[in-house]
Amino acid sequence: MDRPRWNIAWGVVFVVSVVGVVTAAGWAAAEALEERRSAAAARDLQMASMTIETADAVALLGGQPHVDEVASAVEHLATDHELALHALSPQQAARADELIDQIADCGRALLGPGADGPAAHDHRELHDLLELASRRAAANAAVAERQAVTAVAAAAIAVVLGAWVLGRTRRRQRYERSRAEASLLAGRRMAALIDDSPDIFVVLDAADRITFRSMSADGLLGPDAVFGDDLVELADPGDQQAFRALLGRSDADERSEVFRLAGPTGATGWFEVRVSDLSHDPLVDGHVVTARDISDEVHLRDELERLANTDVLTGLPNRRILPTALDGAALALRGDGTMMALLTIDIDGFKVINDTLGHLAGDQLLARVGDRLRDTVGPDAVVLRLGGDEFAVVISGIASESAALACGERLLQVLAEPIRLDDRLEPGNASIGVAVTADPDHVGLLLGEADVAMYAAKRQGGSTVVLFETELSTTASRATHLTRALRAADLDREMSIVYQPIVTALGSEVVGVEALLRWTSPEFGGVGPDEFIPLAETSGEICRIGTWVLGEVCRQIAAWTEMGIDPDLTVSVNVSPRQLAEEDYVRQVLATAEAWSIPPSRLAVEITESVALEQTGLARTRLEQLRRAGIQISIDDFGAGYSNLGQLLRVPFDVIKIDRSLLLTLTAMREQGGNDPSGPCAIMEAIVSIASILDAPVICEGVETEQQRRSLQASGIRYVQGYLTGRPAPADVVTPRLVAAGAARPVPALVLER
Ligand code: C2E
Ligand code: MG
Ligand code: MG
Repeated sequence: MDRPRWNIAWGVVFVVSVVGVVTAAGWAAAEALEERRSAAAARDLQMASMTIETADAVALLGGQPHVDEVASAVEHLATDHELALHALSPQQAARADELIDQIADCGRALLGPGADGPAAHDHRELHDLLELASRRAAANAAVAERQAVTAVAAAAIAVVLGAWVLGRTRRRQRYERSRAEASLLAGRRMAALIDDSPDIFVVLDAADRITFRSMSADGLLGPDAVFGDDLVELADPGDQQAFRALLGRSDADERSEVFRLAGPTGATGWFEVRVSDLSHDPLVDGHVVTARDISDEVHLRDELERLANTDVLTGLPNRRILPTALDGAALALRGDGTMMALLTIDIDGFKVINDTLGHLAGDQLLARVGDRLRDTVGPDAVVLRLGGDEFAVVISGIASESAALACGERLLQVLAEPIRLDDRLEPGNASIGVAVTADPDHVGLLLGEADVAMYAAKRQGGSTVVLFETELSTTASRATHLTRALRAADLDREMSIVYQPIVTALGSEVVGVEALLRWTSPEFGGVGPDEFIPLAETSGEICRIGTWVLGEVCRQIAAWTEMGIDPDLTVSVNVSPRQLAEEDYVRQVLATAEAWSIPPSRLAVEITESVALEQTGLARTRLEQLRRAGIQISIDDFGAGYSNLGQLLRVPFDVIKIDRSLLLTLTAMREQGGNDPSGPCAIMEAIVSIASILDAPVICEGVETEQQRRSLQASGIRYVQGYLTGRPAPADVVTPRLVAAGAARPVPALVLER
């Protein structure tokens, strides 16, 4: 029986009991009253009998009894005796009746002349009987009264108890009702939160079929019920196995994977899918799949990757694609004599065209060269622009060296056709170097060999094709010499550091500086970091050099602090992966800072994206340690190729620095597309928006023009670094600017406001 019915049943039992007890109390009270009356009647009869006895005695003594009293007593004795004698046994009552009648007769005789009264013992016997009747009736009355009182007390207790039970039941019901309402409300609130979340929540049973889905899934799954459907089937066929494997993995809750899902509604998107096994929870009983729509991030990543890998001017793949193109061609080498070739092509006299006809004409020439190369090579070749006026062609599946040479000749011919630049016709003469191999292990050397051949072609006066031969190769390349010179370098004498200001996009207020290394070799003169840093990295020299840079930067910060320059100004230092991999790198940084009494917060470490995302997790651990110590982490050269944004968001960093190449690409695209060059740029805005997820400020590097600065500012980028706002310069040149900046700032501010 359910609870309300129980309540009614208990209520009825309670009322019946109370009514029963009250009735019993009534009966007992009535009985007590009757017995009291009986006792009183017996006493009255006793009085009447005594009155007649007294009168009889008075008459015997010759006195005159009170006639009124005797008459009243006689009348009393003559009335019904049943009530008075009710407590006696029937025999006693009969005897008493008899005696009463006799005494009444005696009374009547006393009222009349000459009658004898009853014998004295008659009075005594009646007296005793009436006494007995009176006492018994009184005793009965007492018992009945006690019963009545007990019943009333029981009824009272029952009422009080009932009221208490009723009140308690009511209170309990009210509590349970409010609890049920509260849990209903909590459930509704939870459901509203889940439904309102942009993330999709789905519960799958053991067969991966949907048993619950949040309303946020409507966009993908449609509003119609799809319970029982297999979620995995929404993934691309090629991904379904991986998706199912993710669902089945015991450590799935710690991992997420990205899948493209297509719903029955036709909606598709890229989702970061995370799975938690809640089969043990009876409320869920299944795997909870959380899918976050990261389509915007994926599209931005693809776009950045495309931009990073494409040359805007010619639309050809750029230098970054060269290793991929070479690897692709190497795969076709089957060991049966089939060969592959790399041709490097440099336009002859391009600098003269640029200088005499202007950059626009130079650009036109490069675009036409790109078109011609693309149109001439077959489907087995990839054309790339390596940079400047240098192009490359990777050809796979060729039969011989002479076939590669013939291809070079053909390209030379096609390029030599005059190209129209404005109103002039200019020949696109070029020098072409060709390197060929049939050995996959040799592929890494092809670029160097093709370059050597190309320079040989240049030396021969240009407009020619040269095939690489070993004799062409100088015994030791520049790289080998430079590496040897680096190893022997006296760092204090040959190395120096220049500082480039990082400023606010709006007011060019200096908020930090980046330390950039310079090398003046006694043998080679000034060598740019783009050339010697990679060599220092491959040779391992970078660790010695990096330690020197850090010490020098800390010494400079201490000097600036001494001069009263803004104590919050941060100095960024570039760090190579090899340095980060060093066992005691973090300790070394902190010890150097401490030696110069510099708080770690004055230092920022710049690392490239690829380092931050390196798979072993070692770099990540080091970065976390540095960050915990108070050192800022900047992701350098963002947008220069890697750009795995989803992954990047999991790396500990504070600042994103957009690479100059991305800025240049976007600037060129805006110019070509006829867009306002100082208007906001969608890709920059997207980067700012994604960086804002981590509350990370964005700095754009390589800003050279006012239009770029305005466009960046319009896109939400708050900090810039570039020739426009300050070229890298030695400390003594930068210092006056820092002094002025510190004086201009009312409160020394944190370097980068979040
Ligand atoms: P980076 O860290 O991205 O540094 C920015 C580079 O852009 C610097 O080149 C800077 O001079 C240049 N730059 C700044 N503004 C402009 C501009 O408006 N236009 C142009 N065209 N260039 C601009 P730099 O000094 O040649 O350094 C090149 C790279 O060498 C650096 O790129 C960094 O990756 C590396 N590097 C420099 N110093 C060090 C160092 O001490 N340690 C390590 N490991 N790497 C360093
Ligand atoms: Mg840097
Ligand atoms: Mg950079």
